[in-house]
Amino acid sequence: MKFLSTRGVSSPVSIDEALAAGLAPDGGLYVPERFPDLVFQGPGATLDRTAYTLLASYFEDSSLRDRLVDICEQAFSFPAPLRPLHGEGDHLLELFHGPTAAFKDYAARFLAEALSELRKPDAPTTTIVVATSGDTGAAVAAAFHRRPGFNVAILYPDGRVSPRQAHGLGCWGDNVRAFRVDGSFDDCQTLAKQALSDEALRRERPLSSANSISLGRLLPQTAYYAHAALQFRAEHDAPLNFIVPTGNLGNACAAFVAKRMGLPIGEIRLATNANDVLPRFFAGSGYAPQPTRATLANAMDVGAPSNFERLRHWYDDDDALRADFIAESVDDATIRDTIRQAPQRHGIVPCPHTATGLRLLERLRASGDRRHWGVVATAHPAKFESIVESLVGHAVEPPPALAESLARPASAELLPADYAALRERLLPR
Ligand SMILES: *Cc1c(COP(=O)(O)O)cnc(C)c1O
Repeated sequence: MKFLSTRGVSSPVSIDEALAAGLAPDGGLYVPERFPDLVFQGPGATLDRTAYTLLASYFEDSSLRDRLVDICEQAFSFPAPLRPLHGEGDHLLELFHGPTAAFKDYAARFLAEALSELRKPDAPTTTIVVATSGDTGAAVAAAFHRRPGFNVAILYPDGRVSPRQAHGLGCWGDNVRAFRVDGSFDDCQTLAKQALSDEALRRERPLSSANSISLGRLLPQTAYYAHAALQFRAEHDAPLNFIVPTGNLGNACAAFVAKRMGLPIGEIRLATNANDVLPRFFAGSGYAPQPTRATLANAMDVGAPSNFERLRHWYDDDDALRADFIAESVDDATIRDTIRQAPQRHGIVPCPHTATGLRLLERLRASGDRRHWGVVATAHPAKFESIVESLVGHAVEPPPALAESLARPASAELLPADYAALRERLLPR
């Protein structure tokens, strides 16, 4: 299987090249040349075997082919349960059982395993540079921590992540360095891009990225959708519809790919926070990226969703794309209301991101929709305890892996939002 650039200028490449490159040379995003049409019977296998089945045809001519079973076993070593909520037909897909309590753990671990396997034994140490608004950096740090041949440099906006998110970024040490940047997330992203395009720096200090446009993050995320939808069909003989809290569209694109591969997935509905580029587009306006607005659901604070280009590539034109998706925005006041009412209404405490999805479910039920929906729970509420606990009126216990990282000391280096300063810190001392 070959992988094409969404911009169509760069030549098709193998999966190994696409994984190592991240972005295509023409600035596009890599997409598979076709979607394998798989036939799934029965309730499906374990999560890691489901991942293997989905990914095998993409990796058929990869040097990783014979290692794929093990890579999937490592990446999918914690569950992704689909739990019933209080309401009839309402479900929660819990993706927060990994080491950093957010869905990005699955794909970060897959990417780390894959890049480790692709690495030549005598290659110099590669530094993974990630700009993060909170969760990506922690997942990438956890996945690459103490991994031979890799360092991690995390850039996050100082004071704009939750206290526990900051802890989760700074608690690693060893081969992981956390930089708290005196600036916004957009400043962090600009710094990361400047480093990645600095050829002179890269000759001395090989760099790589791990952001959400990487195929190594997109493809593995299909696994939990497949696993949940197969289990659901076996029990209910019906497809499962999903509501996906959305920022860069990476998670939602994975749901879309799983659906195109033949899985019993119905509608995929997109929930955003006050950053409403997608709701505007799907309601009929043009695609108009905006400056990012800070919200309670900070991992979804995105003004120009980076995977939009992929979704657009998979449709003939914008009208066809609009016909398949609905996106709705949920503002901060409504996120607060949703969290406050969720224990009574749904039987759970959601994180602010998951709350945007729950609110869309509530709107659907209020309008008489009777289908089966799975709301994707993208992070554990304990990660956002400073927002959630006062709204529900009690403490939220962190899951064991999160508790363990909170028990370690954490620190981060202050960095001005200035590329010369970052360059100096990255160079060998
Ligand atoms: C990253 C993230 C999102 C948004 O996911 P995308 O793939 O960027 O759309 C939503 N919720 C949480 C908790 C996240 O960390």
